[in-house]
Amino acid sequence: MPITHTDVAIVGGGMAGACLALLFAHHCPQLRVTLLERQPLPDSSAALNLPSFDTRATAIAAGSLRIFDELGLWPQLREFAAPITRVQVSDRGHSLGASLDAGRETGASFGGMLGAVIENAALGPLLYRALGNTSTEILAPADVSSATMTAAGATLTLANRGEQLHTRLLVVADGVGSPLCRQLGIASDEVDYQQEALVTTVGLQQDHAGVAFERFTDSGPMALLPLPRRDGIHRAALVWTCERADRARLEALPEAEFIQHLQRAFGWRAGRFLRAGRIQGYPLKLSLAREQVRRGLALVGNCAHFLHPVAGQGFNLTLRDCEALARTIARTMAPQAPESGQADPGELDLLEAYWRERQHDQRLTIGFSDRIPPLFASRSLLTAGLRQAGLLGLALVPTLRTAFARQAAGLAP
Ligand SMILES: Cc1cc2nc3c(=O)[nH]c(=O)nc-3n(C[C@H](O)[C@H](O)[C@H](O)COP(=O)(O)OP(=O)(O)OC[C@H]3O[C@@H](n4cnc5c(N)ncnc54)[C@H](O)[C@@H]3O)c2cc1C
Repeated sequence: MPITHTDVAIVGGGMAGACLALLFAHHCPQLRVTLLERQPLPDSSAALNLPSFDTRATAIAAGSLRIFDELGLWPQLREFAAPITRVQVSDRGHSLGASLDAGRETGASFGGMLGAVIENAALGPLLYRALGNTSTEILAPADVSSATMTAAGATLTLANRGEQLHTRLLVVADGVGSPLCRQLGIASDEVDYQQEALVTTVGLQQDHAGVAFERFTDSGPMALLPLPRRDGIHRAALVWTCERADRARLEALPEAEFIQHLQRAFGWRAGRFLRAGRIQGYPLKLSLAREQVRRGLALVGNCAHFLHPVAGQGFNLTLRDCEALARTIARTMAPQAPESGQADPGELDLLEAYWRERQHDQRLTIGFSDRIPPLFASRSLLTAGLRQAGLLGLALVPTLRTAFARQAAGLAP
């Protein structure tokens, strides 16, 4: 089998892999980076048929917007994104509510917003257009059927192309339940929450005015995220947590009945719901890889940690991981580094330094996200802090998250 060589091979061209490739291109332009994606990519990158870029929308926190800004992508992103200027929290059955404002949370805002929401179907082409302006080599369709770790990195077999690729650093970004991780002997710890997140786009009678709504119900939290208007229609992305047994029933409802049901559960804070798009269900679970780095190997994205999606943390955490990985490697590649020239991106010390840097944030974010289901299983456990701030608020405003984690860990004064 013919074999070619690269410095960094990223397996998986979803949100994690594509963003990591962009960060490597920005911070370590001297590295040869190859991005391998199993699915074919259209020439124009107009519609990407990849799992990451489906009908969901992603709430991107201000910290992540800063990273996109540094990559020079904010001007393109803002064209498709709806700013979040306020998070409004309410609780079904209680009149009390709370809100978080970008104006007050200036330390956690970017350009006067707490975050922004972008539809994944718009994010994908934007990322791939940006990748087209870098020296990243994109191989697609390229199905990595096996990976063998070697003394100098890893050798990948691309079954569908009849070729092999040797890389000094292999980054696995192939999603949750990664067969590649299993093949490399990396197991994951899993908790099945026995719930589903129903995701759809809804049409609203009134403008959302940049408000993201969070509503606590008996079955779990609902999030309504602002989206840009389309064809004159006010739109929002709905994430509705429900019991697994309810999924099929809710999905099967005719649109008018679904809307009635939604209106009852959500209330009138966002005005009248007019329509709903196709409903997509996602099983809720926590999946954590037992190892994230080894000599010549790193894991990023859903294959490293797959979280409860309602608090909107998964991608934001991944982007922070990816930035730290690219920056850590860039430091040893810098011309002033005495070892420059021989620097190996797969060096264990380097990857362990990255992992040490990321552990605190990962522990905090994953721990916070894992506390969501028990909080809703027993309402008496809801802390006042959590109810006041809301899950989205906690996701968008890191200081609140730290405060909540301290409280949950019994460290709060
Ligand atoms: C309902 C829902 C809502 C969410 N909302 C938010 C939010 O608001 N904010 C937030 O921060 N996060 C959110 N997330 C989390 C976010 O979606 C994930 O962080 C993101 O999908 C990460 O994707 P990934 O690239 O790791 O994996 P994937 O999207 O699964 O991509 C993996 C890629 O690898 C490719 N691949 C697989 N195997 C191979 C192989 N052998 N060879 C080559 N290629 C391969 C696949 O084709 C795929 O393209 C949400 C998640 C869900 C489920």
